Amino acid sequence: MLVDAHCHAHAFSDMELKEFSKIKIIAVSEDIESSRKTIDLSKRFDNIIPFIGIHPWNLESMSARELKGVLRSLKLGEAMGIGEVGVDGRIKKSVQKQIEVFKLFCEVSAELGLPMNIHALNAWDKVFEIMLKMDVRRALFHWYTGPIKLLKDIGEAGYYISINPAVRIQPKHRRILESAELDMIITESDGPYNYRGLRLKPTMISDLMEFISNIKDVDRISLEKIIERNFERLLG
Ligand SMILES: [Zn+2]
Repeated sequence: MLVDAHCHAHAFSDMELKEFSKIKIIAVSEDIESSRKTIDLSKRFDNIIPFIGIHPWNLESMSARELKGVLRSLKLGEAMGIGEVGVDGRIKKSVQKQIEVFKLFCEVSAELGLPMNIHALNAWDKVFEIMLKMDVRRALFHWYTGPIKLLKDIGEAGYYISINPAVRIQPKHRRILESAELDMIITESDGPYNYRGLRLKPTMISDLMEFISNIKDVDRISLEKIIERNFERLLG
């Protein structure tokens, strides 16, 4: 079975979601509204695994009540994981606040054993360091384009990275695919995000598998097994 470890399922129509029914999808959220929608989708679609959280891009408009609401839902066991959360080092003026909020999510992850779906653009090392220190046991660094030398530490910590269909046209992501061990890789779409004219969606995972199979020189069936196993381990 194909897997998509990072998809904004709430942003697709029901009709599109039906086309993705043969793919296991971790659906991430960005704020309280999408978190609620994601939980609702997971009740209507068997293949959708709900993750909730607040995206670092949304912290400026977020109210304290909103944050509390998401944390409460997590504690009530309404989701299978936490995400999309993290730190975006490009938004310098809110980095301190991003780190504070991220630590709250790490705390819940460590306490409840929930996997995290991480956004860490321009903050890879920092985010990794916080997670280790806070005892986060399971996590995915989504669309990893961080330092190659950090890959080994991420693997040793038992964390995963995801590879996006953009790997065909994004050289630094391709170098990651070439360097990373197969036992730390999972596929993702980040749909419906639009990357340089490419509207990403879960149905692109099949071609992505073909691409990975060529680059890593492993047959398609073995590759599917490895990636599905990684996905299940991430979920615990
Ligand atoms: Zn995303």
